[in-house]
Amino acid sequence: MSTGADYAPPADLVAQRVRGVAESATLSIDATAKVLRAAGEDVISFGAGEPDFPTPAHIVEAAREACAQSWAHRYSPTPGIPALREAIARKTERDSGLVTSPDQVIVTNGGKQALYTLFQTLLDPGDEVLVPAPYWVSYPEQVRLAGGIPTIVPTTAGEGFRASVEKLEAARTPATKALVFVSPSNPTGAVYPPAEIEAIGRWAARVGLWVITDEIYEHLVYGDARHVSMPTVVPELRERCIVVNGVAKAYAMTGWRVGWAIAPTGFASAMSRLQSHVCSNVSNVAQAAALAAVAGPLDCLAEMRETYDRRRKLTYERLSQIDGVRCPVPEGAFYAFPSFEGVLGRTIGGTRIASDQDLCAALLSTARIALVPGEGFGAPGCARISYVLADDDLARGLDRLVDALS
Ligand code: PLP
Repeated sequence: MSTGADYAPPADLVAQRVRGVAESATLSIDATAKVLRAAGEDVISFGAGEPDFPTPAHIVEAAREACAQSWAHRYSPTPGIPALREAIARKTERDSGLVTSPDQVIVTNGGKQALYTLFQTLLDPGDEVLVPAPYWVSYPEQVRLAGGIPTIVPTTAGEGFRASVEKLEAARTPATKALVFVSPSNPTGAVYPPAEIEAIGRWAARVGLWVITDEIYEHLVYGDARHVSMPTVVPELRERCIVVNGVAKAYAMTGWRVGWAIAPTGFASAMSRLQSHVCSNVSNVAQAAALAAVAGPLDCLAEMRETYDRRRKLTYERLSQIDGVRCPVPEGAFYAFPSFEGVLGRTIGGTRIASDQDLCAALLSTARIALVPGEGFGAPGCARISYVLADDDLARGLDRLVDALS
């Protein structure tokens, strides 16, 4: 009898909604690099969007304790355990100055699910959402899955990969309902200066758009850059603003899957109603860990940030040495996003490079380094380099990149 494992369904058995969904470009390149490494290849991956540090010990300990407590063995309230919602409200005021109440907070399986649920809650079919490019790969897919239409607003390396009010206004139509704003940015590492954040926020409030502000990299800013939360500088936006955040990036907790949205109360409870039918509650053990993270001291982040900053400088310095590569100084998150347009047309390992995909394929096969092609981020000609890998690997990988393109 067939187990079903070898059964390939006809394509139209998969719902139309899902047929066009692209696999996450970032997860897929990292998976390829991991397979090659497991097969004994000396591949260095710049693909992963996750810290290489372990989760701080006091956070792991809180989870260990929760495992033994009976409350954690049971269903808990859909929008999050009360202590965590309370701690998130307090942490938000501490870190960005935004005053919120616990009933505005909904705890989700990572920032990714906060975004998915909020788009499902916000959008009706045909609603347009402004998504500046280069964008994080899941925004357009999630907008489409909610029946919305992502309106991509391209930005260039020369513009520091930051969208201006003029560009956003030019892309707005009567059907535009929301703007997705992320600073510090994945994939570019761009951090908007406070004045630009305020200008975009004021414009959005004036024209009546919702703003989804993704603050998952808030603690990862370097040099003179600083993180500013849009609703703190544009209070009139608050009734149409949703803040997305989570513990994944700052606390080296990508695998724990805890994020959250902070929204106007009525909107947060609508998200919670939806979530009650999707996943009930986020794992209680993971919520206990997140509570220890957000209620705990911030100094555990300092060492990680200093390390990333050192790696950021090295990455930028080496990229700047390559003729034909243009890279704005990454000021936040842990990515550099060089434009390789100046090297297209060259030959690497016998292959003529016509696109960022060709480039990444050639770099993987000849130089044994994995970069994520810009195409998946809506930025052909570019590629993303995540610099959160061990110092030795980073240095060796950058040497290989410089050699391959020299
Ligand atoms: N937002 C941005 C910009 C991201 O880069 C990511 C993860 O890569 C997320 C949200 C989601 O993070 P998580 O679901 O791991 O909390």
